[in-house]
Amino acid sequence: MPPSPQLDEARAILQRVYGFKAFRGLQEDVISDVLEGRDALAVLPTGGGKSLCYQIPALIRPGCAIVVSPLIALMSDQVDALKQVGVRAERLDSSMDFNARTEALNAAQRGEMDLLYVSPEGLGTGLAQRLAGMDVSLIAVDEAHCVSQWGHDFRPDYRALGRLRELFPGVPRLAVTATADTRTRDDILAQLQLTDPALHVASFDRPNLTLSAEPKGGGRTARVVQLVKARGGVSGIVYAATRKGTEDVAEALERAGIPALAYHAGLDAEVRSERQRRFLLEEGLVMCATVAFGMGVDKPDVRFVIHADPPKTLEAYWQEVGRAGRDGEPADGIALYGPSDMARSLSWTHQGDAPEEVKRVQLTKTRQLFAFLNGDECRRGAVRRYFGEEKVEPCGVCDVCTAEPGQAHDATRWAQMAVSAVIRCGQKVGRGRLVLHLMGTTKDGFDEQLSTQSTFGVGKDLPKAGWDRVFDALLFDGMLAEGGDLMRPSIIVPDGEAARALFRGERTLMLREDVAAARKKPAKGRS
Ligand code: ADP
Ligand code: ZN
Repeated sequence: MPPSPQLDEARAILQRVYGFKAFRGLQEDVISDVLEGRDALAVLPTGGGKSLCYQIPALIRPGCAIVVSPLIALMSDQVDALKQVGVRAERLDSSMDFNARTEALNAAQRGEMDLLYVSPEGLGTGLAQRLAGMDVSLIAVDEAHCVSQWGHDFRPDYRALGRLRELFPGVPRLAVTATADTRTRDDILAQLQLTDPALHVASFDRPNLTLSAEPKGGGRTARVVQLVKARGGVSGIVYAATRKGTEDVAEALERAGIPALAYHAGLDAEVRSERQRRFLLEEGLVMCATVAFGMGVDKPDVRFVIHADPPKTLEAYWQEVGRAGRDGEPADGIALYGPSDMARSLSWTHQGDAPEEVKRVQLTKTRQLFAFLNGDECRRGAVRRYFGEEKVEPCGVCDVCTAEPGQAHDATRWAQMAVSAVIRCGQKVGRGRLVLHLMGTTKDGFDEQLSTQSTFGVGKDLPKAGWDRVFDALLFDGMLAEGGDLMRPSIIVPDGEAARALFRGERTLMLREDVAAARKKPAKGRS
């Protein structure tokens, strides 16, 4: 990069104001573009230091910077931190009273403000007009993936941000996010109407993370206790899907002599901030939390993140697991998952009131997540490819990379039988009856009409537990899907082309265990 006086100034600010020695990763490249007045999109991992990418140019360029941020809590954290180092920053959000807002706005208009944080919905109102009348140095859009319905956290309020281009002509705009796959990136550029944007995408690799995923057996909480115990006395986070889940896990850990706290949105704000404070200060404390915990929590020595229930999407997974090992020392990410988690996630989406298009994206993301969890691809490699990285080497340390060879069993024959049975039964039959049909059972769920189909009884030699695994795998894989009534779903074949590839033997189903030998006991977690 050619020497530039502005970059020298940026470096000086980094040291004087923030007390950091050098820029990290792509920070310098991003800052250099913004200083030149260029539009840019920066995709940097959590903890990558995105905020400095706009804060430092805001201190150098004349005028006040506008930072669009979706969460009041994040805004106030950043504003407080900035004020502490003597930067003139304020926020304008709905939680503030009229006077405080007016004062902040007036100060900005008088040119006495370096950064002004606003919510996206705030910009939809007359506020935007007032801001447009003042001297603006740059506009930063934080969590920019929220603008895209291909992203994992689409927020309709973000759509209005496309107008920024006309409202603030000539003002450089910087979009930043930690998670955006290729499609989401393109959409951010289009929605925000960035002009000739510079694109900065950091590698998503986190070499110090050892990742694994395992099917939930019977005792999920007991398994979590076992995993935590095996790591002995270090700080970690256990994510659970429900408030009760967080409390159950915390109690079980306490009973096992491991200091643990629950954290969820149902607790008083005071209790929450006290627990968060303890987690940051104390060593060896395990936080059992819903996803309400973690945003803006910057504890470098978190040694593990365990998902007692699976995350919502791969984006969420990477963000949550990314809270482990920020100090660069080894850390573990372990996810537990089961087919009922996937079914629940799909049905929530179905029942939600998002527009049809958004639902379809969410359903795809759910399936991609479970295909990843249940898949046989290097964990870190799979995530990096998901985020659009090419030429990715296997990590060599995850459960998949270290699995003993010979563990993969070809279950394609069973998969073919299952998919043909679904088709023969008209894609109208539930999973339980399909298994009975394949096993040729004439007892409980016997259906005379279906028994005339050629698939009746073809799978006699596979025990029920084996069929359960095959159906799980096909559902995770997306070869089969649940359709019709959500409470009593029938199994369907969503993609005829994929099914034909399976019948031709071009697509296979590999499983880690030999299903023909499966017994009726719950799957044992691998340690
Ligand atoms: P992000 O928003 O990308 O998750 P932040 O901007 O909150 O990350 O930065 C994460 C942490 O890293 C913060 O504590 C921040 O002060 C610190 N940080 C940022 N840039 C640097 C740097 N160049 N050197 C050292 N620490 C940095
Ligand atoms: Zn690997």
